Amino acid sequence: MAKRDYYEVLGVERSADDATIKKAYRQMAKKYHPDVNPGDKDAEEKFKEVNEAYSVLSDAQKRARYDQFGFEDNPGMGAGGFEGFSSGFGGGFGFGGLDDLFNMFTGGSTGARRNVPMQGDDIRMNLSLTFEEAAKGCQKEINLSRVEVCDVCGGTGCKAGTKPQTCTRCKGTGVETVISNTAFGRVQRRTECSACRGRGQTISDPCTKCGGNGKVRTTKRRSVNIPAGVDAGNVVNIHGQGNAGENGGPAGDLQLVISIKPHKLFSRNGQDIYVDVPVTFAQAALGAEIDVPTLDKPVKFTVPEGTQPGERFKLKGLGIPYVRSNAKGDLYVNVQVEVPKKLTDAQKARLKAFEDSTTVREYEKKKSFLDKIKEAFGG
Ligand SMILES: [Zn+2]
Ligand SMILES: [Zn+2]
Repeated sequence: MAKRDYYEVLGVERSADDATIKKAYRQMAKKYHPDVNPGDKDAEEKFKEVNEAYSVLSDAQKRARYDQFGFEDNPGMGAGGFEGFSSGFGGGFGFGGLDDLFNMFTGGSTGARRNVPMQGDDIRMNLSLTFEEAAKGCQKEINLSRVEVCDVCGGTGCKAGTKPQTCTRCKGTGVETVISNTAFGRVQRRTECSACRGRGQTISDPCTKCGGNGKVRTTKRRSVNIPAGVDAGNVVNIHGQGNAGENGGPAGDLQLVISIKPHKLFSRNGQDIYVDVPVTFAQAALGAEIDVPTLDKPVKFTVPEGTQPGERFKLKGLGIPYVRSNAKGDLYVNVQVEVPKKLTDAQKARLKAFEDSTTVREYEKKKSFLDKIKEAFGG
């Protein structure tokens, strides 16, 4: 199974503060806690995943490292995370001991809290663009799989003409009392009602499309607008295109993480573009007008007389636009002086004649080199 992004696991923004992360963790840990989901392997996996994400994001250093480098092989809470949880209450979880943990399940407001509108989860997706698409902006078609409000029942989960009933197990409170034997003795605590999953209501006649869930997962092709100038690693946030909210809450966002395919000619650093342009030895010596490729059509550029190999020229404003700005980066031309190969005998003879006509005076570097040798060895 592919590892999910820690922020995605906890359902928080990358910019979320510690309090938000802690709150999200408590909600998730409660939802997937093995005591609430006995024998549910999927919930147990989720619980481990949530704990691992929290162990990293709650630690400023680990979080910074994760933001920069992504997953580590061993974030300290890997496969052993769950075991660590049962045997080491209070150790390394960022909240107090056993009482605090159990408090997450008590308080009696569990059912009520579940009925308040909550924003849906954000969806994070990778989006690969060509160099030009990123530079100029584009409209991309993506397959978006997300949770939407069921269009048949409008989210109630009930078959047309029926209504949900008050849960008989918890009498609408959404909470039930569970007694269990733990390593710490007999513990009585209040937990989410297993009959209504904390909603306080049950549906006897569920909607056939969503099975009473009120939501359905759909995969649709949709088009997204990417602004000009995005760079690799940028996240394009599309508001309200994430998963549907709970109890009428707003949908989350769709977050597209940009990657960019390499270009045959151009490389990029921020909003600046770099291009290598070969010129002949004679063009470099005499100066010449050359064609330089840009994002749009090629432009004429005059290489000055006496241009050296590797010399770089800046063409201002011919780079990539800054996102949602009129400003643009620059285009840098790296001049590559090419020495000719496979010359004919006639060409060689003419070049030899040219060489014989020059002295060290025409060659700055060579002159300085010879002067240094003289100084060093007193030649
Ligand atoms: Zn439905
Ligand atoms: Zn109930």
